[in-house]
Amino acid sequence: MVAVEGGDTVCVVDTADERPTIVCLDLEGVLVPEIWIAFAEATGIEALRRTTRDEPDYDVLMRYRLDLLAEHDLGLTAIQEVIAGLEPLEGAREFLDELRDRTQVVILSDTFEQFAAPLMAQLGRPTILCHRLVVGADGRIEDYRLRQPDPKRSAVRAFHDLRYRVLAAGDSYNDTTMLLEADHGFLFRSPDNVQAEFPQFPALEAYDELLGRLAELVDG
Ligand SMILES: [Mg+2]
Repeated sequence: MVAVEGGDTVCVVDTADERPTIVCLDLEGVLVPEIWIAFAEATGIEALRRTTRDEPDYDVLMRYRLDLLAEHDLGLTAIQEVIAGLEPLEGAREFLDELRDRTQVVILSDTFEQFAAPLMAQLGRPTILCHRLVVGADGRIEDYRLRQPDPKRSAVRAFHDLRYRVLAAGDSYNDTTMLLEADHGFLFRSPDNVQAEFPQFPALEAYDELLGRLAELVDG
């Protein structure tokens, strides 16, 4: 225990090692399929297969996707129809339920609220922090709004400010700042190029393996 001052009050809080734990998980590639790849397959537009695994700059990637959608005259409804047919990855729901039995979990994703909702329902509605699309009255996706810059890292920092110890797992470039900021980071089902660039993070493939490593840290 340590005493900290806040305004007029002093309170006794946990030391760094005693903090409660929260687990931050990426969504696509970790719990559900890559939405844009599913959409590329459904529409046959090969160019839409590009993801954060290939393009580290998210803004460049999103502008490219929005241009392609406009070019092919595809709006939000077309994407939502594909998402309606998606299911979480095999074993994802069970993994998440078991993890949530043991500790707090929040999903940190670079997807959009309009895409995530049906998948969150299938995952038992865990908390998700993600972005929003700007959709016109005609259903065209006009733009997108990031909640804040470097959102995954910022979320981990905020949890640290709230005096949580943060464990994190993700598969792609857009997860690496989250993993670097967390107290413990894991790559899960990550491509070889990401694993090679970030060898400091254990790279795991199976849910029971990830659950085991996280549970070990939670139970300390
Ligand atoms: Mg991912």
